[in-house]
Amino acid sequence: MNCPVCNSNNTKVVDSRLSGEGFSIRRRRHCQKCKFRFSTIEEMEILDLIVIKRDGHRENYNRDKLIKGIVKSLEKRAYLEDDFQKLIREIERDLQKKGGNEITSKQLGEIVIKRLKSFDQVAYIRYASVYHSFKDVKTFQKELNRLLKQKNNKK
Ligand SMILES: [Zn+2]
Repeated sequence: MNCPVCNSNNTKVVDSRLSGEGFSIRRRRHCQKCKFRFSTIEEMEILDLIVIKRDGHRENYNRDKLIKGIVKSLEKRAYLEDDFQKLIREIERDLQKKGGNEITSKQLGEIVIKRLKSFDQVAYIRYASVYHSFKDVKTFQKELNRLLKQKNNKK
């Protein structure tokens, strides 16, 4: 990173911190030559992916949208911000692993559901029911019963 004043490439990072929901890194730098102080912001790379909707409509993958849906399912649930960010990273890695540059919204939903299942059981049920991924009412009931059973066992 070159100094914006003297253009020297001898700049030193004095501080790094996460900002913007943890998806960007702010670095404070000092130019070693002219002593100018400045900050840079590095954005985390955005997944280059096309999502194919149920009706065949295509749109660019949107991280904000993904996060909104997951946050909604986690309403009133306790979780750590760090864990949440790890969850998002894991989901995006899974999306990438799926290969290619297109994914159906159904595949995307399945990946989220799979990750949510091990993250938060309640959020998992909420998310899955919103996205109608349960085959039928029976499957939904079965999952709900399994969850309730687990809760009772913990007592
Ligand atoms: Zn400088």
